Amino acid sequence: MDFLTLFGVYVVVVLTCIVLVCKYAGQEQTPWGRYYNSVTTVVSPCVPLWLKRLFSKALHKLFHERNNAFIYTHLLLEGAVYAEYSYEVFGHCKEMDTTLTNLYIPYVLLVLHLYLFYLCCSRDPGTVTKAKHATQVKVYPYDGELFHPGEMCPTCNLVKPARSKHCRVCNRCVQRFDHHCVWVNNCIGAQNTRYFLMYLLSVCAMAGDMAILTVDLLLNVVARTGIMYAHYVDAQGQQQPTGMAFVVQHLFLTFPRIVFMLGFLIFVFFLLAGYVMFHLFLTLGNHTSNEWVKARGRGCQHCHPHSGHRCHSSFNPLRGFYSRGLLKNLREIFVPLKPLKKKKQK
Ligand SMILES: [Zn+2]
Ligand SMILES: [Zn+2]
Repeated sequence: MDFLTLFGVYVVVVLTCIVLVCKYAGQEQTPWGRYYNSVTTVVSPCVPLWLKRLFSKALHKLFHERNNAFIYTHLLLEGAVYAEYSYEVFGHCKEMDTTLTNLYIPYVLLVLHLYLFYLCCSRDPGTVTKAKHATQVKVYPYDGELFHPGEMCPTCNLVKPARSKHCRVCNRCVQRFDHHCVWVNNCIGAQNTRYFLMYLLSVCAMAGDMAILTVDLLLNVVARTGIMYAHYVDAQGQQQPTGMAFVVQHLFLTFPRIVFMLGFLIFVFFLLAGYVMFHLFLTLGNHTSNEWVKARGRGCQHCHPHSGHRCHSSFNPLRGFYSRGLLKNLREIFVPLKPLKKKKQK
């Protein structure tokens, strides 16, 4: 396989992953999601009707009904990366002077990550039930802008607690609803946001650590072979010095699977690091993704260009309606709030 074919396959695989992960990481209102929507609008007239129906049916089943497809995809991708790491990177690094402790860290992170992944998938996010409703409704006060007292969920037939939302995929109302994540096939809510955040951090740590080990390996290969300062003979028979482009091409052809894996790891690391930062920003301001989307989408009922009203949903981390200070906001993720106690009347 020549370099261009290999590079073409690589670009297609990485771009497919980018579109899939960005659109379906749980945030539908991302720039990538909007980009995806505009691309489908352009392509749509060229696709036959039967194919469109089949495609939309499959998409509906995949993204609007609870299923384990993304959990299996997740495990498959992880399995492929770890197989490649164990099969090639581990051996090559062992031949260099990388210590065994450093080489085993990705496996330790994997165990921790799988445990967090299991917790995200299996723990109740804070389902609003008839039995617990009386206490759940007292956890947060209604802000009067995004959440109003007395609003009913027609499906659950219950008054919606403040900050809750009905998840159409799981068909239930969830306390302090953040979003429905297809990768863990579960809602992210009051009771499992902590696992979700730690799970994201564990993926970043895994991807970052393995990427550093792989880059170290490739740099070692470049230094050992001296390819950076070598020469090659071009089509005219002239000797030319090798540059960065030549080295990248050489590594691509010599270690195609390792370079594929490295590109994927770097992509996952930066994507999830950005996502973690976004969630930390929300956490510190005591907001949820649902509230962020809601507030950006419609503003509050008092917002008007000439009203001079400053809406609390402008997402200043210190001024949100539910914000209780940075440390308390952070604590609330790890120790979910209990129902509000009414002050005793004197
Ligand atoms: Zn509901
Ligand atoms: Zn859900």
